[in-house]
Amino acid sequence: MPTLLARYRLDAPRRLPPLAAWKRSVREAVTAVDEDTLAPSAAKNAHYLSFRSTRGMPFYLKRRYTWFVNYGRSVKTRLRCATSALEIDNGRRSGVISRDDRLCPCCPLQETETERHFMLDCPLYSNDRLTFTDAVDDLVLRNDPFGWRTMSWNQRYQFLLRDGPPEGTPITALQQWCRIQIHLYWFLAQAYKARDAYVRDY
Ligand SMILES: [Zn+2]
Repeated sequence: MPTLLARYRLDAPRRLPPLAAWKRSVREAVTAVDEDTLAPSAAKNAHYLSFRSTRGMPFYLKRRYTWFVNYGRSVKTRLRCATSALEIDNGRRSGVISRDDRLCPCCPLQETETERHFMLDCPLYSNDRLTFTDAVDDLVLRNDPFGWRTMSWNQRYQFLLRDGPPEGTPITALQQWCRIQIHLYWFLAQAYKARDAYVRDY
């Protein structure tokens, strides 16, 4: 067991966490490591590790939500692990060697469909994205403990996909972080659904 846990960079839980939460955490870690073993790619592992700041269960996986918000959160996990349905990953499996040729099928921008393109740039989701960023702008108007308003889009991308706020973050800031994440999960769920429908119909 300890060997297994070490292989997936998981800490042994000190007391038994709620089963569903523990399962989510294990699934995320196993996906990240095994996908990497099956298709060895330093880039993929580095991608995952760029969002991973803590050991044990990432903070964002600890809470329970309704199924649609949960679905959005599972999209976040897929984006973190680079095991999404996006072309950047499809191309890896179907043998499109060059990253630059894994173009987004949902828009005319002729850009590689990366996690970042999906989340921040693809015009197919601009309405949902705008609803999301408006909601966050509204939230941080009076309370901006993480400095959202002064972040670059790169920093926002990192901030949104990371584990969660550092340990010792005051409770009011934690609550604010959770509110922002719920808006994010909602957006990701909508966008993923829209992508699915688009790819199916065209
Ligand atoms: Zn696109």
